[in-house]
Amino acid sequence: LKKYWSELAKGLTPYVPGEQPKLNNLIKLNTNENPYAPSPKVREAIDKVCSERLRLYPDPECSRLKAAIARRHGVGADRVFVGNGSDEVLAFCFPAFFGPARRILFPDITYSFYKVYAAFFGIPYETVPLREDFSLDAEDLSRPCGGVLLANPNAPTGLAMQRRGIEQIARHCESLLLVDEAYVEFGGESAVDLTAELDNLLVVKTFSKSHSLAGMRVGYAIGHQGLIEALECVKNSFNSYTLDVLAQAAAIAAIEDDAYCAEQLRKIRQTREWTAGQLQDMGFCVLPSSANFLFIRHPEKTGAQLMQQLRGKGIIVRHFEQERIRDFMRVTIGTQPQMQQFVRELGALV
Ligand code: PMP
Repeated sequence: LKKYWSELAKGLTPYVPGEQPKLNNLIKLNTNENPYAPSPKVREAIDKVCSERLRLYPDPECSRLKAAIARRHGVGADRVFVGNGSDEVLAFCFPAFFGPARRILFPDITYSFYKVYAAFFGIPYETVPLREDFSLDAEDLSRPCGGVLLANPNAPTGLAMQRRGIEQIARHCESLLLVDEAYVEFGGESAVDLTAELDNLLVVKTFSKSHSLAGMRVGYAIGHQGLIEALECVKNSFNSYTLDVLAQAAAIAAIEDDAYCAEQLRKIRQTREWTAGQLQDMGFCVLPSSANFLFIRHPEKTGAQLMQQLRGKGIIVRHFEQERIRDFMRVTIGTQPQMQQFVRELGALV
């Protein structure tokens, strides 16, 4: 019954997130979550909030959280914006910085939410083909346009671009360069420090992966004060309280326990390298990953086939039905024992 739907709603093709299965005994390698629990300090912080603050509205400015993020990155708190997951931060960027008159650019293979936001906010876009090996030529994005959007490391490939490539694009772009660093802590080079100098560079980050807080929904952006102001304007025209009190307290506790986080990141990187080696020995093509997942292809079996067969073994991975990457599957790095089981089951299939 679509007769009451707006024209906008009728025209939407929503993003489809990876499955969150209701069964507990699966090995879940499909949505790039961190396999380790967040810092124990997160639980303490949440307990405290439950007894003291849950009946109150949250701080709409998220001042303490912004201050904690600012301290961690060595920037002023007025250069930080926070949102309900980096998805929401990215969404707010579209009406804040892009318009209907000029096309924005992003790679043909990247996070598939970008084109969904573009359609929702009526922003025209052009996709720029990655090279054959899925690397990105900074030259291809260094041209006049309405804005550039890049995931670095890229998803679902895991490939990272060096900081100087980001700098080159920002310097050639007279509009905004938005860099989505959801996975940068797993091995990429962050562009946050470039934002001090480049007022058209906005870096978007998340607590979901590196700080094991996907369930809390906390993301943020760092950039020039003028850019942050635009995001605040958009957010406060939409919802004053995008982050609840639990999320704010959890994120503060997580970012203040960096030593804990660093140790989990180290384990994940180590397991990633072990897994990549095992898969190569089995004959898989494994793209070099700077993220917490591997993008892999077998010479004889398609990604869809293998995904289906792994599902039968209680292991879920992700596959994308898109030109150029149809043969691949994306595998999140789990714990070492989980990946040992994954390698065993996959070995039996190929
Ligand atoms: N950017 C990229 C490239 C992602 O893969 C994801 C996770 N799906 C996000 C942003 C959003 O992450 P979150 O909203 O959990 O911060």
